[in-house]
Amino acid sequence: MSEAVRGRFAPSPSGRMHLGNVFCALAAWLSCRAQGGTMLLRIEDLDPERSKPEYARLIAEDLRWLGLDWDEGGPEDPAFVQSARGALYEKALERLRAQNLLYPCFCTRAELHAAQAPHAADGRVVYDGRCRRLTEAEREALSAVRPPSLRLAVPDGGVCFDDLFCGRVCRDPAQDWGDIVVRRRDGAFAYQLAVVVDDALMGVTEVIRGRDLLDSTPVQLCLYRLLGYDPPRFGHIPLLVAPDGRRLSKRERDLDMGALRARFGAPEALIGRLAHAAGLLARPEPVRASDLIPLYRPEALKRGDIVVNPADWSVS
Ligand code: GLU
Repeated sequence: MSEAVRGRFAPSPSGRMHLGNVFCALAAWLSCRAQGGTMLLRIEDLDPERSKPEYARLIAEDLRWLGLDWDEGGPEDPAFVQSARGALYEKALERLRAQNLLYPCFCTRAELHAAQAPHAADGRVVYDGRCRRLTEAEREALSAVRPPSLRLAVPDGGVCFDDLFCGRVCRDPAQDWGDIVVRRRDGAFAYQLAVVVDDALMGVTEVIRGRDLLDSTPVQLCLYRLLGYDPPRFGHIPLLVAPDGRRLSKRERDLDMGALRARFGAPEALIGRLAHAAGLLARPEPVRASDLIPLYRPEALKRGDIVVNPADWSVS
């Protein structure tokens, strides 16, 4: 492969990293470093209510402690902090608007939930496109009542891609999502738009992230096409789950980096344990992240969910 690899880790600073985020950071970093690539750290702080600069700094500090370094970006570089990149997202919206693909949506969250059963898997509501059909007069009248969000008219049709870990994936974004919000009513740009604009403009060639985002990739691929960008390769890694199959989340306080650092004491112990659980290391022995680079084989990464018993990982 002659292309210069550019990988990235793109955390949302809505809390301290937990074990799942560490796994994602490790997987993205290892794949990138094993190919001699350039690693980027982008801060995805578009949600003004949940994002805090202190968390972004803490994430960077925890990554350094783990030995997961980056070459470009980080919380101190506004070019890699989404809240400072609004003008670029606005330009992308302009291009979609010029194709007549955007429309204002006046539906409230409550109306959307009342109208349709949430998508089974993750509580997502598939939008039925009702505001696409409003007349100009109706739009004007509703604008006086409340500010609209902005939706993308998602084109019909299947989208397929070859995932590095999941194989061929085919979905129909118009069926799975309906028309997505690209700008919220409060003015915040939506993740789906920003992530595409950023990965494209930052020259990212490889996106390794959690399987919870697998369903988002086809809709993001639509955006790549509509904006005229070449998409990166995608690899969606397994999720960490509790023994009862429940997905581990930020709510598991005992698996956040504060608790993990207290328990493991040194990054090598934590990295070794995680790499072993993920199938990347034969024994759960302490290793530096950099020791894993020459050992890395993408085929070795576990394919199914990775079961983590919080009791074994927490401070007791
Ligand atoms: N910011 C997202 C998160 O922390 C990740 C987005 C992505 O990797 O595309 O879940």
